[in-house]
Amino acid sequence: MCVVAFLAAAAPRAQAPKHLALVGGMLITGYDVPPIHHAAIVIEGNKIVAAGPASEIKIPADAAIVDTSGRVMLPGLIEAHGHLIVLGQGSYDTWFPWIKQHGGDAMLKRVMEISARQLLMAGVTTTVDLGAPLAASLSIRDRINKGEIPGSRMLVSGPWISRGAGGAMQEGFGGINVSSSDEAGRETDRLAAAGVDLIKAHAGLTRDDYKAIVDAAHKRGIRVHAHVYAETDVRNALEMGVDVLQHAGSAGTAPPYSPELITDIVNAGRPVVVTAAHRAWIYADTAAFPERLQDPALKQLYGPEIYEEVQRSLANWPTLGYFNRTDREMLFRERGVKQFIESGAVMGMGTDSGTPMNFHSEALWREIKVHVDMGMTPMRAIQAATRVNAQIINRRDLGSIEPGKTADIIAVTGNPLFDIVALSHVEVVVKDGTVYKGGPAMDNKPRNTTASK
Ligand SMILES: [Zn+2]
Ligand SMILES: [Zn+2]
Repeated sequence: MCVVAFLAAAAPRAQAPKHLALVGGMLITGYDVPPIHHAAIVIEGNKIVAAGPASEIKIPADAAIVDTSGRVMLPGLIEAHGHLIVLGQGSYDTWFPWIKQHGGDAMLKRVMEISARQLLMAGVTTTVDLGAPLAASLSIRDRINKGEIPGSRMLVSGPWISRGAGGAMQEGFGGINVSSSDEAGRETDRLAAAGVDLIKAHAGLTRDDYKAIVDAAHKRGIRVHAHVYAETDVRNALEMGVDVLQHAGSAGTAPPYSPELITDIVNAGRPVVVTAAHRAWIYADTAAFPERLQDPALKQLYGPEIYEEVQRSLANWPTLGYFNRTDREMLFRERGVKQFIESGAVMGMGTDSGTPMNFHSEALWREIKVHVDMGMTPMRAIQAATRVNAQIINRRDLGSIEPGKTADIIAVTGNPLFDIVALSHVEVVVKDGTVYKGGPAMDNKPRNTTASK
């Protein structure tokens, strides 16, 4: 409740302090260097102007101070694969008709606002949305950017481009079916002209389709992400120049991939976003702790109407169609992820958040934990979700804490380099220089400009 109250107070950009300083905590910059102890970060407007040991950083006299003593500061997390129009409900077959019957576009808007807020409060300051109706995608992105609603900064694909897809998922997410490569190129051009930030090319497209999409997108200066699981789809997307391979390695088909494919991906330097946790780990984790589905935080954020529908949809969840292939996926899940970790491939971090039982409030730390459990060092995993993801989405102003970068910073309780689950304890969120969680207005700590411990 106090979060909401504070957001309301902090929303108008004009009231933001000229200077803001986060002082006292350990600093993980996003680079592969040792953390800086007892650090300070100074923000002017929406930019970082200084970062380093607090003893060496001059805090401007007018700065509002966020005391991060005893915590760990790191770049705002970036989610490279989310879906705002879904909230972790059990089935698309019931979810989208339910939205239609409960307000239609107004309900869809509310759902997307909830998702964007959930992400932000979980320390995810930037999210790539890879599939939603066009107008709704552009609208939420722009309203967040204008500061009208609190939410993760969005980069949106709008509808994906596919061939021969159908059913509730295709309809609900607004997927575009094409019947020729020319059409695929034209649709890409139309989406780019409408203002999407990137294109999502679904599985099942031909090599010529991928080529047409990539050519049209690159002409417009935007990137193409492919939704690919099967070896052939991954190879086609890779060879036709798709910029990011989403889902590859998440055991949606039968890995391991051939060593030749892995080698080609590594040599091409083509980024991979595995989305490992959805289905295979989420299913097992929920079997071990089904109570996670009734997390009180969900109840509070969703409100009774949505919460009850999500609960209803998750009754008897092990039998949901979404988890039909989970036995096979659990068999292959470790090999799928390890194959890429051990290969040295460029790896980002994304989760398919919003998909069944994959709640926005925790999807990213779960995904990062899977990568760490599978052998990625915590430092590399944090970099994947920050600096590497920023490169993948072509936002080089994001992803690290250093002068000149956009001020997206979070602070967590506990050391994520010791236990990565510390990323689930996000206490402070600063996005674009504005404090959205854990700011000076929320606590009664003295506004102490020194960094004494
Ligand atoms: Zn996908
Ligand atoms: Zn997805």
